[in-house]
Amino acid sequence: AEEPIQETDIVVIGGGQSGLSVAYFLRRTGRSFVILDDQPRAGGAWLHGWDSLRLFSPAEASSLPGWPMPRPAGPDAGFPARQQVIDYLDAYEARYKLPLRRPVRVEQLTRHTDGYTIRTDKGTWRAPAVVCSTGAWTNPVLPAYPGQADFRGLQLHSAHYHSPESLAGQRVLIVGGGNSAAQILAEVSEVAHTVWVTLTEPTFLPDDVDGRVLFSRATERYHATQAGQSPAPTGRLGDIVMVPSVQAARSRGVLQARRPFVRITTQGVVWPDGQSESFDTIIWCTGFRPATDLLGPLGIVDREGRVATDGTRAIDAPGLWLVGYGNWTGFASATLIGVGRSARQTAEEINAYLPQPQPSI
Ligand code: FAD
Repeated sequence: AEEPIQETDIVVIGGGQSGLSVAYFLRRTGRSFVILDDQPRAGGAWLHGWDSLRLFSPAEASSLPGWPMPRPAGPDAGFPARQQVIDYLDAYEARYKLPLRRPVRVEQLTRHTDGYTIRTDKGTWRAPAVVCSTGAWTNPVLPAYPGQADFRGLQLHSAHYHSPESLAGQRVLIVGGGNSAAQILAEVSEVAHTVWVTLTEPTFLPDDVDGRVLFSRATERYHATQAGQSPAPTGRLGDIVMVPSVQAARSRGVLQARRPFVRITTQGVVWPDGQSESFDTIIWCTGFRPATDLLGPLGIVDREGRVATDGTRAIDAPGLWLVGYGNWTGFASATLIGVGRSARQTAEEINAYLPQPQPSI
């Protein structure tokens, strides 16, 4: 027999840092809500990062609302490792007794006059308000090059890269101009011959600039823009942070990027000058798109996976909010420290949207 439909005020889709932040503020409203997450445990995208991945900022600059990330002891005191972020998110869920359901994959969202039907692989929910905080890590982007399907070596997206060991002694092509590419290049180049390809010359930040500096500069720029001033051009959140492994790669002389090849062959690539070069593995560090396929039936998702929003509120779908993802849903909302602000605003808007708003959160 079909399971009964479960009713609640708010369904939060995605239990990564963004979903948890929204939940932190939602619990203060006294509304009923549930967080549906398709992973087997806490951590969101951090579960899938490569083994050596570390935060760009110290613990105290990487906290979710309400409870600072504990500062790790010993050699990790500087920049917390991936596992420490996972442990923090896990403890955060427990501390605030957040109503997570795992693993539950939301397949489709449909809208009715009085709210949404949320269809999942574990039954159906109905709610007048929905928060979509599905992140992007489940939706890696691969550019298309002629001949790509013919390549006989291994092609891997950074989303599925874990560690360099299995690449030892190989010829490895690394594609992409961001932090993922730089960090993966840094460690793969210790065991393999690497070639790095970027669309334009990569932008390296000064050695003493970490996530904190980037965030405060970006904040200044944000306020300047809000105030109608033209902001000074400074580092962007996507520019390459010179973490120790990337500095070491520079010292070894391997942090050199060249412009793209024109096509892929069975053995490797062909450069614009006609020269061929063979590779065993291509690692695509070419980014992600918002995981918004589940919103397809609403007809509000553009080709980039984005939705028109005012802040986090979907303009063309009353009762739907999108949190995380990056600046288009709120300044720095794709960072641990930045998402709290849009999470609070979102919870306030939802509380006001639902009948009988509670006084204040
Ligand atoms: P996610 O963490 O992706 O969580 C979304 C959750 O929703 C996941 O569990 C996902 O599986 C789930 N989900 C997706 N679709 C569905 C569905 N249909 N049904 C149910 N569940 C679903 N950020 C920082 O703050 N500091 C840093 O130093 C930092 N360094 C980074 C370094 C690199 C190399 C990269 C790539 C990213 C870094 N980030 C950093 C960014 C950070 O990893 C992400 O922005 C962040 O994880 C986004 O959180 P989120 O909660 O929005 O999404």
